[in-house]
Amino acid sequence: MADPLVTIEQLTFHYADGPNFAFEKAAIYPGQVVVLVGASGSGKSTLMRLLRGELDPTSGTVSIAGTPVETRKKRLVLDESKAGWVPQTEELMPMLRVEQNIGYHLLRWEEEERSARVEELARAFHLLPLLKQRTSTLSGGQRQRVSIAKAMAGRPPVLLMDESLAQLDLRTKTAILLDLKDQVRREGSAALLVLHDPADAQLVADQVWVMHDGILAQQGTMAEILKFPIAYQVAGLFWHINLVPAHWAQI
Ligand code: ADP
Ligand code: MG
Repeated sequence: MADPLVTIEQLTFHYADGPNFAFEKAAIYPGQVVVLVGASGSGKSTLMRLLRGELDPTSGTVSIAGTPVETRKKRLVLDESKAGWVPQTEELMPMLRVEQNIGYHLLRWEEEERSARVEELARAFHLLPLLKQRTSTLSGGQRQRVSIAKAMAGRPPVLLMDESLAQLDLRTKTAILLDLKDQVRREGSAALLVLHDPADAQLVADQVWVMHDGILAQQGTMAEILKFPIAYQVAGLFWHINLVPAHWAQI
């Protein structure tokens, strides 16, 4: 098997006057989409921020493409070349055209290479007819497509999305997730997505990671987690469950 693009080793973190987190050991391999699930407050965004280098681990390491992620201690500005970031509500430049937004991080690239990359991503995300339009004229779904293409443009090894599609209707969201999965496979990159709907996770997840009470408590395929959730709270993430006292079961 190829080397992992993301590795987490004995990673722990705590906020000053805040909760503790333990992410232990995990890896994402080229071409994989990992879906991160867990109740609100379980630490999903905290893990994302550790991967981006926004927070310093208390112990352990996060590596992307074989080198440890540098945090704000070392760098003033986050290293977008390692982890592409799709913000929750897109932060596109409304007066720039779609092609300029997608190529936004590629200003140092040769003109030809840049336009080839922009075109490649525009094709993958069904934006070719819109390239000359200003992003202020686009629909919400189209804007998120541009936002994803922009985050992938510089070929970061991993793309991070923290509930970035939550505002979209089901069909739009599904179509975008499938295009994203195709592109991640094609490029041999990786993606870590926070998604809430089990149907979405089922659609795209090569692995599901479950955060539970500040711990990365379970890793597996969607089928494994549905079949053997380690706690009733984990089962409850995916569907409504009724708890029955054991003495009712009469076994
Ligand atoms: P999730 O994304 O799964 O909803 P978060 O990672 O955002 O969870 O937050 C996990 C927990 O950490 C929450 O209880 C939250 O209140 C706490 N937390 C988040 N940011 C800080 C902070 N800067 N200082 C202290 N506690 C924080
Ligand atoms: Mg969050």
